Amino acid sequence: MLTIALIGRTNVGKSTLFNRILGRAKALTSEIPHTTRDRNVATTVWRGVELRMIDTGGIEEGKAHNAKRKTIEDEIRRQVELAVSDADMLVLVTDVREGVLPGERTISRYLRTLRKPIIVVGNKASTERQRLACQEFSALGLGPVSPVAAITGAGVGDLLDRITSYEPQDPSSKPTTADRKLSASHVEREAPTIATRVAIVGEPNVGKSSLLNAILGREEAIVLPEPFTTRDVHDVDVVIDGRTVTLLDTAGIRRLAARAAKWSGTRLEEIERLAVRRSLAAIERSDVVVLVLDATRPATRHTKHLAQAIADAGRAGLLVVNKADLISNFDPESVIANTHQLFPHLSWAPIIGTSALMGGGTRGILPAALRADAAWHRKLSAETLAAVHGTVKRRIPTAKTSFGRKRSHLIELQQTAITPPTFLLVTRRRIRLPKAIPAIVERAIREHADFEGTPIRIIVKSAKIS
Ligand code: GDP
Repeated sequence: MLTIALIGRTNVGKSTLFNRILGRAKALTSEIPHTTRDRNVATTVWRGVELRMIDTGGIEEGKAHNAKRKTIEDEIRRQVELAVSDADMLVLVTDVREGVLPGERTISRYLRTLRKPIIVVGNKASTERQRLACQEFSALGLGPVSPVAAITGAGVGDLLDRITSYEPQDPSSKPTTADRKLSASHVEREAPTIATRVAIVGEPNVGKSSLLNAILGREEAIVLPEPFTTRDVHDVDVVIDGRTVTLLDTAGIRRLAARAAKWSGTRLEEIERLAVRRSLAAIERSDVVVLVLDATRPATRHTKHLAQAIADAGRAGLLVVNKADLISNFDPESVIANTHQLFPHLSWAPIIGTSALMGGGTRGILPAALRADAAWHRKLSAETLAAVHGTVKRRIPTAKTSFGRKRSHLIELQQTAITPPTFLLVTRRRIRLPKAIPAIVERAIREHADFEGTPIRIIVKSAKIS
């Protein structure tokens, strides 16, 4: 069951959409009477996925006779407050014919902080031109916009497909623990509208604070209307390509940098310890980790410790080799080769050379972090998985049956989770497998799909059948 709440200002067509979805999908029940007094709630099924819909707009219209005097923000904020604890997903309904209103822009900043999947719907899009005009709403930073015309039902099926794709692919099959984990993480994490949490980590003096300034100097930093419980007060949001990135613990980075610059000798060791501790905490809260290295200094045990922590936590990541300007003949190829050699457990991480001082390369950091985040959330289609399966089968030796026929060790390959992508390989029992099998599988997966920036986990299990 997936609970979605329709939100949006009055007259955008929430109730029409609500009824249209009920008409489209199969109506199951209308809910317990006393709840409908407060809000319109109904349960329906779309392609085998049970949907519970809350039309928060009904509350406003039914109750508030002075609704006109309220601002759009107040109105939507109230709807969200009512629905947010119940809803797995929010659907923000807008009116294409009116375009983006300032109030919608303000409320979007608030919605981005909620860490709930949000789908923006551009309603009243009856013509091709109006459907194109919908994309204006992607400026709200809440991801792509689904055009619909609730009154005729156009686009509603596509919208329902998009909504229900947050559920497991085949709800009729008995879910395994891993499946349940996958569906939960789908709902929590996969929506492209959720801010990507990026931690910039590294030892003191590598240039984290300078990189942060270079990034914040360029991008639009969002000042949040009020603090939220899921956030640390020192987190800062920036919008890039219409997507929100939350940079974690920005003040901490700056404070430590300032101290490192002032202190020296024995106290430096103390700062290093503190920096590593802060970095470890930031890794825990992050989706993507940017591990900063100093091109002029060899990596110490602290950096190796952080690299290990990123790998252990299964976070997406990238490596930034800063202070490239101080290396007279900075050769990216050899830097990449050397860095990968130093951090073999982050072999999947892209490497970016930067100069925070001159600004070189810094522009690439957040886009690379967003790509890594997308890879971290990637779910392979059945066709791609089958192709990977085929490749792996060809690469590992076959077994002989008692009749002397050759057959594969492999029975099945499934993706059981995302963040990080996790695969289950089912093999035949009683056959000793080459140790390199997980590596062979991982290589095949990476050949078939873009997983740069994310670790991949492979679980090998042998089946009962022999
Ligand atoms: P943090 O402790 O990792 O936050 O490091 P800071 O950002 O405070 O930088 C430490 C020192 O390195 C400062 O003196 C910076 O000016 C200097 N620095 C940072 N990035 C660069 C760079 O790309 N090139 C050069 N030449 N110096 C840099």
